[in-house]
Amino acid sequence: MRIVWVVLALCVALAGCVAGSSAQSVDAGVPAFRRARGSRSTSVGGPSSGTLRGGVSLPERAPGLVSNPRRPNATAFYGTAELVNMLASAAATVDRAMPGGTCTVNDLGFERGGPIDHHGSHQAGRDVDVLFYLLNAEGRPHPSIGVPIDPAGEGTDYRDLLDPSDDIPLRIDLPRTWRFVQALVEDEHALVQRIFVVEHVRTMLLAEAARQHAPAAAIQRFSEVSCQPAYAHDDHLHVRLFCSDEDLAAGCADSVPMYPWRLAQIERAGLEPVAEVRARRRRSRVVTEEEARANAPPMHESVRAFLDRRESWIVQPHPGRRYCR
Ligand SMILES: [Zn+2]
Repeated sequence: MRIVWVVLALCVALAGCVAGSSAQSVDAGVPAFRRARGSRSTSVGGPSSGTLRGGVSLPERAPGLVSNPRRPNATAFYGTAELVNMLASAAATVDRAMPGGTCTVNDLGFERGGPIDHHGSHQAGRDVDVLFYLLNAEGRPHPSIGVPIDPAGEGTDYRDLLDPSDDIPLRIDLPRTWRFVQALVEDEHALVQRIFVVEHVRTMLLAEAARQHAPAAAIQRFSEVSCQPAYAHDDHLHVRLFCSDEDLAAGCADSVPMYPWRLAQIERAGLEPVAEVRARRRRSRVVTEEEARANAPPMHESVRAFLDRRESWIVQPHPGRRYCR
């Protein structure tokens, strides 16, 4: 039993995601996601209430990218053409710039979108969860798994939760994770609306961006679109796209926030902004954190200590910044 289990248990308690297995197949010949243009897919409605037409599947593997076979929802590897192309393109950019690491992508949404277990959103093909790039103690890339990252940038793959001798110390791979994020916010075909991530990782990514002398526009955009939601997101990034102009004209709706720069783009395109109208919030299967802890498997002392420590950043964003929605 791995720490992932515990993370998942807590994840369920707070907003959630749970493991399954995938039987995804790869398109033969030229991958469909490479040929897919935005017009192939249409995001209809909003992230928490919408559907998807002509969903494009993320490939099992692409340069620098793997679609997680143990993702929370086995068949949730469909998104809009813009989303799938953005992920493949960003992972390939990182792979070219810093070979050796692999981006692991968890849930996108279902082929036709709609409600999905353990997520309030991910319904309209424009949401995706991406695990952080990780490094081992020697500073070499380590497969991305859902390891919660603490404010020092460190985490542990506890593997057998009862056995302290098999623990693997890890840390977030900031150079690759930032480069990936930079590629996302610089994508001209996929407009990132939100990157949900715990505040301390957001701060570390901004510091890394400065260290890499990243373009000011990318830093500004990331800083504007990123924030910590009420559920901390300390083991992955949740990325959400705006409706494309094309989809906006076909019934796509955006959730909050709407930024002045996006409003200006929409106006220039001769379109009107469409705000998501959410019906009654779908009740997810939520258990309290206490229940999750009570139901968690036996674990050794340092796992329990980490989970206790984790509560300090799960429930409290940085001073001066509020939770985002
Ligand atoms: Zn998500």
